[in-house]
Amino acid sequence: MMDATHSPQLRSWVASANGHPDFPIQNLPFGIIQPRGETRRGGVAIGDEVLDLARLSASGLLAGDAQMACALAAQTTLNAFLGLGPKPRRALRAALSDLLKEGAQPRHGLLHAAKDCRLHLPAKIGDYTDFYAGINHAEAVGKLFRPDAPLMPNYKHVPIAYHGRASSICLSGAQVRRPNGQRLPPGASEPVFGPCQRLDYELEMGIWIGDGNELGAPVPIAKAGDAIAGFCLLNDWSARDIQAWEYQPLGPFLAKNFQTSISAWIVTPEALAPFRCAVMERGSGDPKPLPYLTDASDQKEGGLALQLEVLIATEQMRAKNMAPHRLSLGSSKDLYWTPAQMVAHHTVGGCNLSPGDIFGSGTISGKTREALGSLLEITEGGKSPVQLPSGETRTFLQDGDEIVFRARGVKEGCAPIGFGECRGVVVGH
Ligand code: MN
Repeated sequence: MMDATHSPQLRSWVASANGHPDFPIQNLPFGIIQPRGETRRGGVAIGDEVLDLARLSASGLLAGDAQMACALAAQTTLNAFLGLGPKPRRALRAALSDLLKEGAQPRHGLLHAAKDCRLHLPAKIGDYTDFYAGINHAEAVGKLFRPDAPLMPNYKHVPIAYHGRASSICLSGAQVRRPNGQRLPPGASEPVFGPCQRLDYELEMGIWIGDGNELGAPVPIAKAGDAIAGFCLLNDWSARDIQAWEYQPLGPFLAKNFQTSISAWIVTPEALAPFRCAVMERGSGDPKPLPYLTDASDQKEGGLALQLEVLIATEQMRAKNMAPHRLSLGSSKDLYWTPAQMVAHHTVGGCNLSPGDIFGSGTISGKTREALGSLLEITEGGKSPVQLPSGETRTFLQDGDEIVFRARGVKEGCAPIGFGECRGVVVGH
């Protein structure tokens, strides 16, 4: 649903917002900020500044649904705001757009410089589920593990996922400690214990749950889009050697639970309205999704068309002030299942979702080498190293390596918006 808040002509009295690569006035993403010397509260990124929702809520400038939503978003976590659902969230977006647009009275007292604010996890995350909807990734990885049967027979019928670990989700910027664990060295018959030797990243979208559901009350596919409160970037750091040894028969465990990084800002479904697209087209031999996963409008516009970029900067590159090296540029279009299908499937058996729960989409890879969302795929399981501009090579991540994800919506006739970064440096023991 497009409205006045999306107009590419819209400009803000916050000068740095105009032409900002991530946070122009058409975006207005929510996060938890802590201005210097103050407590945590909700904020909205606008250019290089942040709008303080606690100050706005106390200002008397808003009324009705917008004020109610602002008061909840001003709390120390965004859970209550996320749980409100779309209507008050849209009212607040419209009010914020009016407040910040060029021509409105500038209210600099409501702003902080972003660099003066510490960022925190946007919500208390109760549960985390990681899907596997990137079909090109599933095929490529399946080929490495099972050359004769890359895709399991269930893949095109059921959105595959595992229950992840909410406790180890960290905000972008947190260091990533290389995990210890068991691995089976090539050719060995007994495992060894020690630091992971094949540390990898996984490029994923994070999907924030808004208004959840009661236990035993599934969310029908037609309403599942409204259960999603926003999106972020998610790095599902993965210990490939630990994973290969432990994953059968119950799936990922310690290979994935040591840390997951997410970007700080929740980009709302409203901000992403211009960048919706049809679900990935199914091959002629593919089964139709079952009726509980099928909704005409979700099929037509339930996908997301965002550019996704992965960059690496090794310790040596950073010391020499070299620009980060792009490892891939892909698109969130490369998902076999839509976020709404994930919600409908997750709840169809009766499982309840709560405001502030998060899903990972699964690693998003394109069909070409330039668009692969993990080192496992880029290096073909560690066989073909990546050459870096510093003269170094990588098969998997070394201590000191920094990985940065970026996402951007770009479309003819629309103001481009971005997600900010999801960043992490690997450290050893
Ligand atoms: Mn994953």
